[in-house]
Amino acid sequence: PVSRARTMSLVEETKRITAQFDYSDDNVNKGVEEFLRQMNEGLEKDGTSISQIPTYVTGVPNGTEKGLYLAVDLGGTNFRVCSIHLNGDTTFSLTYSKVAIPKELMLAKTAQELFGFLAKQIEEFLKTHHEEHFETHIRRRQTISSPEGYKDEHIFRLGFTFSFPVQQNGINKGTLIRWTKGFDIPDAIGKDVCALLQDEIDKLHLPVKVAALVNDTVGTLMARSYTSPGKTSTLLGAIFGTGTNGAYVEKTKNIKKNVSGDYDKSTGDMVINTEWGSFDNQLNILPNTSYDIELDQKSVNPGIQMFEKRVSGMFLGEIVRLVIVDMLKNPAVSLFRDDNSSSNDWKSTTTIGGGSSVLTQWGLDSSIMSIAAADSTPELSTLRQELEKQLHIYSASLEDAKAFKDVAYAVGRRAARLSAVAIGAIVLQSGQLKNGTDDPIDIGVDGSLVEHYPYFRDMIYEALRATKGIGPEGAKRIRIGIAKDGSGVGAALIALVAAGME
Ligand code: ADP
Repeated sequence: PVSRARTMSLVEETKRITAQFDYSDDNVNKGVEEFLRQMNEGLEKDGTSISQIPTYVTGVPNGTEKGLYLAVDLGGTNFRVCSIHLNGDTTFSLTYSKVAIPKELMLAKTAQELFGFLAKQIEEFLKTHHEEHFETHIRRRQTISSPEGYKDEHIFRLGFTFSFPVQQNGINKGTLIRWTKGFDIPDAIGKDVCALLQDEIDKLHLPVKVAALVNDTVGTLMARSYTSPGKTSTLLGAIFGTGTNGAYVEKTKNIKKNVSGDYDKSTGDMVINTEWGSFDNQLNILPNTSYDIELDQKSVNPGIQMFEKRVSGMFLGEIVRLVIVDMLKNPAVSLFRDDNSSSNDWKSTTTIGGGSSVLTQWGLDSSIMSIAAADSTPELSTLRQELEKQLHIYSASLEDAKAFKDVAYAVGRRAARLSAVAIGAIVLQSGQLKNGTDDPIDIGVDGSLVEHYPYFRDMIYEALRATKGIGPEGAKRIRIGIAKDGSGVGAALIALVAAGME
């Protein structure tokens, strides 16, 4: 039994709080203007909030590319090896293997130990999956001492996805700045990671050339550009998963800062890795509720990745959690309370079970936001079951569940509209809306948030329609599609582009 007075105040309080997450059309437009300003500042000099990192990738595929390529991915716990056969008709097939990195190698004395292990995995993969193709070459490896000894067409080009901070100096050159994610091999710091891998591959006489160093966002762009319908090339690849980032095609003439090293100047384009997670770290225009402030202050990197902290999967659940905790403590609202209890202490009247993670930092996974948004049943029965299962919130009333749904929706919607700021700014920067055609402006997206959060893309479109310079007509031309298997096929495609430059 829920008293009428408390239902009223719960509804009012929910409205008051969710209103703080409104991000109006006017805000979207101010956001786009500021994003454009910070993007162009990043093209001019180093040390800006949007880094705008040149990738040395000077073209994107159109789906007609053909061939067999290798891709490897060292990102954290696992090392993945795959071969990709590009069929030349926007389709591909992929063979894949994965191995956990032994803990002791993450802390090895020399870089050689780790990279030697990686090369060994590539050898195993070739033996298992490509013995027939390379049989003679693998047999001849005892007699031929360098990869140059092989005929060029028999050498596998490899794209190396390496998800640690590197200073890139060429399409297959990049020095390690520092290790993260539990790795610590001081010997490797300052060295070219592609050369480290190539040396170990050469010791095994494998017919493999490390052709490209790959960032996962650039991989998403390339993968989408190859697979997108109608031979159109893609403008932007964007990730909305644990984190958020985007890579897009920029005119080289707009890149005013120094790009060292060689690259193909004939296309006039270069892919830029924006690192937009740190857009507006100075909070010129980003919304900043008390919940955003609290999340940031309690994070490991206060003041950094401020856009990401309002947009990506890792943080959205935490924002919702902070709102819920705030509401829990408010006696007038009495969210998730046992109304029959007369105690004044919220902790002794709450229906939240002892094992619940709601009261712990990061204890609310953003996937429950998708469940809340998708539940359109009159009783919100799916959401209420999930509150019980995931968060040990027992016998939530319909009003409580409704409040949770409204909060989650407000936070999710703000994230989608902020995502539109980044996408809209890049569409405007490209000038493609003014190229006098009706061709689609293709955008590839990847990540659980954009894939699974209901209506995330619709909410992005709604904001794009309200953006000056885009409008309803412009928004119709923008085609946002999922980029699948970005890391593997994207890395292969970068290896292909790199091979064309040799
Ligand atoms: P990654 O970005 O690490 O490659 P994902 O794209 O799967 O991986 O993103 C994982 C993030 O997405 C996590 O922060 C998780 O909380 C969030 N997430 C997972 N599933 C969903 C979902 N159904 N709805 C919204 N967010 C989700």
